[in-house]
Amino acid sequence: MDFRLDEEQQALRESVRDFAREVVAPVIGDHYEKHTFPYEIVRQMGKMGLFGLPFAEEHGGMGGDYFALCLVLEELARVDSSVAITLEAAVSLGAMPIYRFGTEEQKARWLPKLLSGEALAGFGLTEPGTGSDAGGTRTRAVLDGDEWVINGSKAFITNSGTDITALVTVTAVTGTKPDGSKELSTIIVPSGTPGFTVAPGYSKVGWNASDTHELTFDDCRVPAANLLGERGRGFAQFLRILDEGRIAIAALAVGLAQGCVDESITYAKERQAFGQPIGNYQAIQFKIADMEMKAHTARLAYYDAAARMLAGEPFKRQAAIAKLHASTVAVDNAREATQIHGGYGFMNEYPVARFWRDSKILEIGEGTSEVQRMIIARDLGM
Ligand SMILES: Cc1cc2nc3c(=O)[nH]c(=O)nc-3n(C[C@H](O)[C@H](O)[C@H](O)COP(=O)(O)OP(=O)(O)OC[C@H]3O[C@@H](n4cnc5c(N)ncnc54)[C@H](O)[C@@H]3O)c2cc1C
Repeated sequence: MDFRLDEEQQALRESVRDFAREVVAPVIGDHYEKHTFPYEIVRQMGKMGLFGLPFAEEHGGMGGDYFALCLVLEELARVDSSVAITLEAAVSLGAMPIYRFGTEEQKARWLPKLLSGEALAGFGLTEPGTGSDAGGTRTRAVLDGDEWVINGSKAFITNSGTDITALVTVTAVTGTKPDGSKELSTIIVPSGTPGFTVAPGYSKVGWNASDTHELTFDDCRVPAANLLGERGRGFAQFLRILDEGRIAIAALAVGLAQGCVDESITYAKERQAFGQPIGNYQAIQFKIADMEMKAHTARLAYYDAAARMLAGEPFKRQAAIAKLHASTVAVDNAREATQIHGGYGFMNEYPVARFWRDSKILEIGEGTSEVQRMIIARDLGM
């Protein structure tokens, strides 16, 4: 067992670290404050090949793997989570369903644009009335000749309303199974399809430079060929996508937790109180030591989950543990980093204020902490 990074992984991590510090850090505070989407950063990430990282070259990808994506997400989130979640959602929730389950025609049509970062895709699972309980999905799609007619709404969908959003994959009830349960399927809805409306962006507590909307479908018609994978496989599809996505969110959470350590060390060495830098006080040193310990153990948990996934082994429990632990650690570290910054930690101009506001959603999105515990307990046979 060796969790040290090889030369290629280290080089990738270094280049993204430099990009985050030199390109993202100087401008992201302004985007955050104004709630604007960082198109220029997205364009540059596209040029770096980040949107195509874990995909095969034959589809326009970089031929890397999911762990490489996680390393990138960690480094981005160390500086800013809005940018990191934009990439995470674009790759893991946007392009991945088409890559994993799409027909050759669907892949040929959508993947080149999505993997170059020229276009983004959203993943529409959550609804205004149901999130954790996907069985409560109410959006319906009825086959009418050679078209699906979709009616319903989706809530909190990331990357669904940018100027470069090309499509949203939507889970919908398409019938009833022989056992009486809902038949769920996934359908591709291109942006601009009549009957598909994107509401104005939400006013959020955090992730303010990322794009999130409620979507409505009102007799929205798309070709029958827009079905993603097999009819009735929607449930299995999104479970797979979310299992993987949890490792990516864990990596993002570790990045935020590590960013809190970085900012706290810098501040503690500069800030003077009672005649010396506050970093000289053991109370502050111990806080930072604990933050580092938490970021480190959370990192090992996501490395382990990713290693199992890449080895083709079961990884559901480990992905849930990684996500649960890393998101808890991110919230803990953001709280402590803010405390170390005193009053300045409450000022939006300081990165730790952004980290604090961005940390809470990590315990909610892509499966709440309660859902992670349910997954772990179930996997333990309970
Ligand atoms: C900024 C943002 C971006 C998002 N992006 C996307 C996206 O791109 N695509 C998408 O589909 N969704 C997205 N989501 C939705 C997100 O995944 C859901 O908010 C999340 O899964 C929780 O669902 P919910 O909000 O409906 O909460 P609920 O499911 O209503 O849960 C409410 C509370 O009850 C708890 N709870 C529920 N069931 C149980 C149970 N059985 N036992 C114990 N406790 C339980 C939950 O843990 C939670 O604490 C996003 C959300 C946000 C805020």
